[in-house]
Amino acid sequence: MSDYIVRATAYNNKILAIAAFSTQTVQKAKEIHNLTPTTCAALGRTLTSVAMMRVMMKGEKDKVTLVIKGDGPIGNIVAVSNYPGIVKGYVGNPKVDLPLSEKGKLDVGKAVGKNGYVTVIKDIGLKEPYIGTVELQTGEIGEDIAYYFYASEQVPSAVGVGVLVGKEGNVLASGGFIIELLPNIEEKIVAKLEEALRNISSVTELLRNGYLPEDILNHILGGMGLNILERVDLRYECDCSQERFETAIIALGKEEIEKLISEGQSVEAVCHFCGKKYLIEESRLKELLRIAEE
Ligand code: ZN
Repeated sequence: MSDYIVRATAYNNKILAIAAFSTQTVQKAKEIHNLTPTTCAALGRTLTSVAMMRVMMKGEKDKVTLVIKGDGPIGNIVAVSNYPGIVKGYVGNPKVDLPLSEKGKLDVGKAVGKNGYVTVIKDIGLKEPYIGTVELQTGEIGEDIAYYFYASEQVPSAVGVGVLVGKEGNVLASGGFIIELLPNIEEKIVAKLEEALRNISSVTELLRNGYLPEDILNHILGGMGLNILERVDLRYECDCSQERFETAIIALGKEEIEKLISEGQSVEAVCHFCGKKYLIEESRLKELLRIAEE
């Protein structure tokens, strides 16, 4: 089954809810980056989160980047969604693999580390992008993003993301949810929601039981006027191209390009997000220099 995200409201639009099924998306990330079970869970949770955050944004050309930077061995985790349902990402050290935690779970918290930051960059077409940074709470990603919504955007929320990895290292299931509360919501609704969330063991457990995004939202918000508004297909796709690479070279400016030419080497680059290699030969560099001079 293909991956998708649903966007919904509940309780007379006072609750916003998003849920995602991201198994193939995270499997593709695993294959591109050769991820271990631990780094697969870490990047998978981050990709699922950024995908849901993008679907929550309103503008057609909005872009969102999520960066998790802790002091653990995985290094930076970067996930980008420049279009609803399209994501890409990478981790600093994809080879990190840790023993299961005491609870028998993939130890994402230890891989990420507890000291560090969550940064969200939202480009909604204004002169400057909106950048919000908060301190990491647990390194487990879901709780860290919930804290970001609360501390940086002043929106109380609940975030759950999970990746289930099989014995062979393949992704068996991946998904998550974000529930946001609008201001002035009645206490009794908050209490009801908290109770529903307490009854969820983990997203991974729901996925193990075959829950789809609609089922996850029903499980949490059933009986609270859940109203599914939209379904968006989700996939991993990189938008890099030779043209983009050349544009970046032109942006270096005349002097830098002249330096590259004088070194007499072709320029090579590898895309962080998809591993694709790009090459610019010396003759093409000279053409780019002419463009940079114009
Ligand atoms: Zn790429």
